[in-house]
Amino acid sequence: MRMSKLYLPTLKEDPAEAEVTSHKLMLRAGLMRKHSSGIYSYLPLGYRIIKKIEKITRKHMDNSGAQEVLLPVMQTSEIWKDSKRWDKFGPLMIKFLDRKNREYCLGPTHEEVVTDLVRDEVRSYKDLPLNLYQIQTKVRDEIRPRFGVMRGREFIMKDAYSLDVDYQGLDKSYQAMYDAYERIFAECGLEAVAVEADTGAMGGKDSHEFMVLADSGEDEIAFCSHCDYAANVERATSDKVEIDFEVDSNFEKIHTPEIKTIDQLVEYLEVPAAKMIKAVALVADGEAVLALVSGEDELNEIKLINYLQANELRAAEEEEFEELFNSVPGFIGPVNLGEVRVVADKRLQNMSGAVVGANEIDYHFKDVKTGRDFEVEAFTDLRSVKEGENCSKCESGKLNIKDGIEVGHIFKLGTKYSENMGANYLDENGKAQPIVMGSYGIGITRLVAAAIEQNNDQYGIKWPKAIAPYQVIILPLGNDRLVQEKSEEIYQSLKDQGWEVLIDDRQERAGVKFNDSELIGIPLRLTIGSRSLENGVVEAMIRSTNEKLEIKLDNLEAKVKELFAEIS
Ligand code: ATP
Ligand code: MG
Repeated sequence: MRMSKLYLPTLKEDPAEAEVTSHKLMLRAGLMRKHSSGIYSYLPLGYRIIKKIEKITRKHMDNSGAQEVLLPVMQTSEIWKDSKRWDKFGPLMIKFLDRKNREYCLGPTHEEVVTDLVRDEVRSYKDLPLNLYQIQTKVRDEIRPRFGVMRGREFIMKDAYSLDVDYQGLDKSYQAMYDAYERIFAECGLEAVAVEADTGAMGGKDSHEFMVLADSGEDEIAFCSHCDYAANVERATSDKVEIDFEVDSNFEKIHTPEIKTIDQLVEYLEVPAAKMIKAVALVADGEAVLALVSGEDELNEIKLINYLQANELRAAEEEEFEELFNSVPGFIGPVNLGEVRVVADKRLQNMSGAVVGANEIDYHFKDVKTGRDFEVEAFTDLRSVKEGENCSKCESGKLNIKDGIEVGHIFKLGTKYSENMGANYLDENGKAQPIVMGSYGIGITRLVAAAIEQNNDQYGIKWPKAIAPYQVIILPLGNDRLVQEKSEEIYQSLKDQGWEVLIDDRQERAGVKFNDSELIGIPLRLTIGSRSLENGVVEAMIRSTNEKLEIKLDNLEAKVKELFAEIS
């Protein structure tokens, strides 16, 4: 491809709208342009990268035995009502009416479509197992679209759905996907790690996320320093022990004027933060819930949602403190609260001598005790783990917490969809059984951003060679006719041998050409100038290391092949 013809609008400056490196570089390197919030057009270079990732993904999906299909983007509301997710997805789903006033949505995911597809077709155990996958645009009206394609409202996903007769079959299908995912990410040149993931309100079944470690990642992952334990902080546990509450005197009300934070209270009352109870007022599916954690801990809302089996959980609004809790913001506590569900973290199991808000402005209770002064419906794990805590798996390692980008997610669904939607098969005895399902996603466009987060420097992108838009870029410098001719000759011969080659044949200064080639991150650059021609050499630069070396003009192709094989 000739750079003079290529639609490649590069930018010199970082666009103001972009916060993270990958977003900046995707715009600057002319890979994409924004259409609307979270919605992008992919330009020629960007789309080539996407197609490479798709090709690698297809190869490993096909090798695993999965079969590619293409499912509708526009989906009827009926199937979503059958699965009971029409309301649950809420505003994340773009919903609309067609001209006959029938309700539709733009698919945020395809469990429903697949279950609907097979419920009328798969009749017997002989038709299973199956794994159907597709690579297609998904639409999710995210609350906070950001970081470019990392969290878009329209993005490309590879999604797969396994269908088995039983859980043993599901375990096999799941493992096959786990293995395929490891191969896909490795071949793309990405370092991705599988971590235990939250399974949502359904609970119990396996789920892993594949994470690319990067500071810009929106997820936090806890890793053990000693064993292989790795889990999303949404679900990670540590062996943090119960708090030792030794005091057992009667509770008293104390005046705490202008004191609203835990730190202020610790100083004022000289009671350690662990015994200051943090009470969080929440509304779960319309019901008031007070969650208690130790003052030194953070409430983990995912753990609470899972315990409550709630669809929606939100912080109480200011007026709801009065209406639902009969309390006031800043001083809420579990004593004399009335009809409110109170759930506490298990570290608070034997709470006594604790400090809580008195549900009255400027007052707290001290020396409160559960069972005597208030009741708790359950003590369960509700806190987020912290850096340095002991691992709950091996008990000799410490947890480290790192940021990660979720590039893939695999999930044992079980029979939730097949039961809700009536997707059964007949077993060997002719008895109807629900199909056992799994679902498996890879964020193809998010992966482009993740690859850049992992591979860049101050000059631009350093594409891993497997997903680079082109393999080699040729830079003829100056107006020397011999340089032009030789460059064209090299360009043609490399192309003829099957290399993916760019030639910067623009009438630009050397500096511009160098900068652009580094920005777009082509793995191997060959620079040709009149002086190098006189010496019978070209200068090669390997973008991943920025290492430069001279290679002889004769036998150039063989040397390119050799160099390319060495780079990652
Ligand atoms: P997240 O927790 O990041 O919102 P998710 O768990 O909702 O993602 P899944 O339903 O598991 O996402 O989708 C499968 C994959 O699709 C994710 O692992 C991610 O790589 C990708 N993905 C999900 N949402 C987006 C988005 N808004 N923009 C780009 N990629 C996305
Ligand atoms: Mg996910």
